[in-house]
Amino acid sequence: MQRVWVFDTTLRDGEQSPGATMTPAEKLRLAHQLDALGVDVIEAGFPASSAAEAAGVREIAREVRRPVIAALARATATDIDAAAAALEGAERARIHVFLATSSIHLRHKLRISEDECVERAVAAVRRARRYTADVEFSAEDATRTDVAFLCRVIRAVVEAGATTVNLPDTVGYAHPAEIRRMFEAARACVPADVVLSAHCHDDLGLATANTLAAIEAGARQVECTVNGIGERAGNAALEEVVMALKTRRDAFPYETRVQTTELHRASRLVALVTGIHPQPNKAIVGKNAFAHEAGIHQDGILKERTTYEIMTPESVGARETSLVLGRHSGRSALSQRYKALGYELDDAALARAYNLFKQLADQKKAVLDEDLIAILHHGTMESAPQRYRLRQLEVVCGTRQAAARVELTVDGREVASVAEGDGPLAAVFASIDAVADHDVELQELTIAAITPGGDAVGEVTLQARIDAKTFTGAGAATDIVTAAARAYLQALNKASHARTLEAAELERASYLWGV
Ligand code: MN
Repeated sequence: MQRVWVFDTTLRDGEQSPGATMTPAEKLRLAHQLDALGVDVIEAGFPASSAAEAAGVREIAREVRRPVIAALARATATDIDAAAAALEGAERARIHVFLATSSIHLRHKLRISEDECVERAVAAVRRARRYTADVEFSAEDATRTDVAFLCRVIRAVVEAGATTVNLPDTVGYAHPAEIRRMFEAARACVPADVVLSAHCHDDLGLATANTLAAIEAGARQVECTVNGIGERAGNAALEEVVMALKTRRDAFPYETRVQTTELHRASRLVALVTGIHPQPNKAIVGKNAFAHEAGIHQDGILKERTTYEIMTPESVGARETSLVLGRHSGRSALSQRYKALGYELDDAALARAYNLFKQLADQKKAVLDEDLIAILHHGTMESAPQRYRLRQLEVVCGTRQAAARVELTVDGREVASVAEGDGPLAAVFASIDAVADHDVELQELTIAAITPGGDAVGEVTLQARIDAKTFTGAGAATDIVTAAARAYLQALNKASHARTLEAAELERASYLWGV
């Protein structure tokens, strides 16, 4: 069976989702999960955009050895050199250069002629080939490019040494029949060993359909993001493309190397890190993707699952919530359970997790898998250095003005603060603001129950403008006010870390690199 390569761009295009900015530690954690998921290529970032971004790519290239690690570059010498430098330690490195080819981009954005476009593309690919034999060229806005000119560019970059040619639907405008025609034309103008790649956006909800159409017309690489996050309406969702290929092998006789049982874990991690949760009815990874509500469907499922089920929840790693541990469970039971969930903890991490687990088990009768994962991500893994830490929290609230007293450590020093607010969260945030030196404007806050029942662990995700940059924070606890305080402090810790990274363009203008 023919193989389709899965190129994951969650860390690059996905990160361009508004508010999805990730710290280097978060990106590295996600890169390890993408490795476990079995993707072929991880696009780790855009090194020329900032020193911090370059350092993040370098770390992933050094640590994640199995997949190809790609870095994005505009078609300029400085960008390509920066990408090559960041990829130096990689086991397998790919430089991904892009240049717009549509007349609308050439005329209004780049202000260059078609001849200049070809020259620039060829020079960029040649330069990238000095560093690595694996070079991808993207013709930005390919779907709005004249096909004859597109073929001229493709032939030229292939001759210059490009091994993969990506034809993005940058603006999410194309429909499946158009995509098919474009890929057939491209296939006819390059040698068979050149890999054609699809990169579709979901502005019209067609990203997955367009990606499948591209495969039918000869594309052998698909560029996707977990949960479909990305610019504007997002990219083709990795889980949708992969499961469409797997479930409809009769129609699409192609295979990927993705471990589909890892899909849910990857989805959950992306949601935790970015604060962007898939909608409940999201295909494959939504909370309701396998829930049967209608009585007639439930009856059918009970008699024979295939009556209404085209794929099993187990095949995508969506487990039933299961009761696992309680207050009498020991450290080795916890370690075992984490192993079963796919997390290998060292002694220090296990000690921290066990500590939090004991606190949780005192508050909650049964500790579920989801709770354990929340403990791990919110309590023991650090997304940024912990300049601010919560020690104690007291809140009075009700029908009168709310008041909060917080005790924090700031740079290792203990401080306490009291403030009032319209509600308990406002009071907590105001009391933290009184001792933290940041300018904070809260933009969004969501509270979700991770597990069922009245004693559920609550997860608070928030997004805030801090010192004029956007940061997300997440926290979990059986008490939602405590969870909110932790989320707020996590966002502050990220902001504080960004400040110390100086140039820290954690939030970047993405206009010029919208492949
Ligand atoms: Mn894109």
